[in-house]
Amino acid sequence: MQREAALVWQKCLEVIKNNISEQSFKTWFEPIVPDQLYGKTLIIQVPSQFFYEWLEENYVHLLRRALDEAIGRDGMLEYSIIVDSGESHNEPPITVSMPVSQSTSEAKPDNLEVTIQEQPAITEFVDRDSLKLDNYINQGYSFDSFIEGDCNRMARAAGIAVAQKPGLTSFNPLMIYGGVGLGKTHLVQAIGNYIKNKSTTKSVVYVSAEKFTSQFIMAIKENNLQNFNNFYMRVDVLILDDVQFLSGKEKTQETFFHIFNHLHQSGRQIIMTSDRSPRDLEGLQDRLLSRFKWGLTTDLQTPDAETRTAIIMKKCQAEGIQIPYEVIEYMANSIDTNVRELEGVVTSLIAQAVLMRKEVDLDLARNILRNIIADSEKEVSIDSIIELVTQHFKISIADIKGKTRLREVVFPRQVAMYICKEMTNLSLKSIGYHFGGRDHSTVIHAIQTVNDLMDTEKEVDNTIKKLMKQFKR
Ligand code: ADP
Ligand code: MG
Repeated sequence: MQREAALVWQKCLEVIKNNISEQSFKTWFEPIVPDQLYGKTLIIQVPSQFFYEWLEENYVHLLRRALDEAIGRDGMLEYSIIVDSGESHNEPPITVSMPVSQSTSEAKPDNLEVTIQEQPAITEFVDRDSLKLDNYINQGYSFDSFIEGDCNRMARAAGIAVAQKPGLTSFNPLMIYGGVGLGKTHLVQAIGNYIKNKSTTKSVVYVSAEKFTSQFIMAIKENNLQNFNNFYMRVDVLILDDVQFLSGKEKTQETFFHIFNHLHQSGRQIIMTSDRSPRDLEGLQDRLLSRFKWGLTTDLQTPDAETRTAIIMKKCQAEGIQIPYEVIEYMANSIDTNVRELEGVVTSLIAQAVLMRKEVDLDLARNILRNIIADSEKEVSIDSIIELVTQHFKISIADIKGKTRLREVVFPRQVAMYICKEMTNLSLKSIGYHFGGRDHSTVIHAIQTVNDLMDTEKEVDNTIKKLMKQFKR
């Protein structure tokens, strides 16, 4: 195949020689080494990234003509670039292949494993039309549908900046971290969607670190790492979701490190997410972690009640469903673990309403929440706490949530607030909401009062512990 490559390249050179000065020919074409010919794809080796870019910039039409003559109109050219990782001198140079620009060909990530089996040593080429990159990206994840709040303002703004100028801001890499269900995947896919919608030529690849790892392992197994590298080294935007998954996977990290360097050096954009801050990422090599600092690291936090309310409203709007505001507010103040859970509850609420032909009202919302919370190990619903406490003290729910300051109501109210603080994840503000919209300082005062009483009065201590025990399994 190498000999064929040499022959074909010789034909190309004849065309090229006749069309440029001798000096240019010597400088830019003599150093090129024909490498391989696979079908109608010729691979040539060039000495550097810069060399490759120069050829693309200045000689792409000439190369196209030469290919037409030597192979035919469907002939294709790939560059194999010797990349200096610029890091360690012990490591061998990496060879990357790039298709000649303006060609409609591109590698197909989804079938990477399959491709490797069918055609060792070269990535499959497919039409842009049949490119299945979209498989990875959820079109519904946009900046528009990503509600802004204090919890995500910085990350969202950085995301928009990167989306508008991929590779051109100082946010490269962009690393977004935060707990589960807080919108990392949504945000990075919004960046990917934005870039793809604006430019059809940019190749945007979204891949979870888990998928990346399994593709890599497959590539080793099939003895075709080159192919794997080729694919990732020519993307314009690489989005690697949940990098914490690479922890402890030395070989995968090494490969990602090289890909990272190559992409970064050539001004391509890298976006990553992680479920914890880089500082807490154990099992990741220092040299990789230090790379993350080159760009911007920013976090997503748990949204506050207002943002949660806005997220539910947006979701209902997207589903074309109207829910009374009081129900939305109730939901937002009852679930503050993460957005995914919140969405789950709203979805079951809507489903129940449709299936049972019921109105979506507070009662339905309470029921759903009670069921969902009953399923989880540690969570207790605020309504069940209120119910138990009111039964125990023989007062009404209306009273505990109402304005009365009678001692026989105030004390149970304080006890209920205390138990809510102890047994749910709810914020003081959300607890206050459930007790007739009291503010968080009232809740703090209640908790303090109960704490003091439990310290000084054995009977109070016993009562409250007994009440709390009823929730424990
Ligand atoms: P993560 O990747 O951090 O675990 P996801 O991106 O999968 O979280 O988000 C979980 C769900 O919450 C998704 O359906 C997402 O659309 C939604 N979500 C998270 N944050 C927001 C937000 N700020 N606005 C709208 N939806 C959000
Ligand atoms: Mg995610």
